[in-house]
Amino acid sequence: MFYIIAFILGSIWGSFANVCIHRLPNDESIAIKRSYCPKCSTRIKWFDNIPLLSFFILGGKCRSCKVKIDIRYFIVELISVLSFLLVYHIYGLTITTLLLALLSIFFIIIFFIDLNHFIIPDSLTFPLMIIGFAKSFAPNLDSNLFPIYLNSLIGGIMGYLVIWLIILSYKKFKNKEGMGLGDAKLLSAIGFWFGWICIPFIIFISSVVALLIVTPSLIKKSKTMSSQIPFGPYIIIGCVIYISFFDKFKIFLF
Ligand SMILES: [Zn+2]
Repeated sequence: MFYIIAFILGSIWGSFANVCIHRLPNDESIAIKRSYCPKCSTRIKWFDNIPLLSFFILGGKCRSCKVKIDIRYFIVELISVLSFLLVYHIYGLTITTLLLALLSIFFIIIFFIDLNHFIIPDSLTFPLMIIGFAKSFAPNLDSNLFPIYLNSLIGGIMGYLVIWLIILSYKKFKNKEGMGLGDAKLLSAIGFWFGWICIPFIIFISSVVALLIVTPSLIKKSKTMSSQIPFGPYIIIGCVIYISFFDKFKIFLF
């Protein structure tokens, strides 16, 4: 029963995430207004706006102008549904589930905005920082996964400083900007959520994943060393891996 609720909530929040991904970088309002086709601007009728299902029924095309709808809309809704189901499956009906479901929506929105536009809006990272710190005071928190408030505060500061130092040294030696302050704010928010211990782990994992993905295109010379790469998605991948394996990682450390 609760799996069905998790499925429905995940798909609704997934389509909300789609609206944010599309409108936030363009400074459009995300307030409730009817969705429209990005090509022909026709308003999408409610029965064509059912998450996941409508994409199949319409064959991935707009009903009026037949333009192909970006597969991204479907992928975002799918990831959102899967993460809601997975979080509920692991943590059940707990405050941890609620928090991680909320975090997954933020992550999905930031992931796709940074991937497409190379920016991470403050309007996403700042609330994430506040929630991450404020939740440290909630009772009955999963103390394995979530830190106490002092650890959370140190994590937030450390996350920002680490990226800020990388940017600074990169500027000094290469006279270029490698990463943006958006990345620093994102890692800071994650530090607030999971404490300082996650920072070195996430830096390591995200660098390895970034290298694995970027190296093939470097070899093909489609990108030079100075090509800008959005680093936010790698930080998010690193954080998801941390959340999945943090217990094994902590045993390994201590
Ligand atoms: Zn259309």
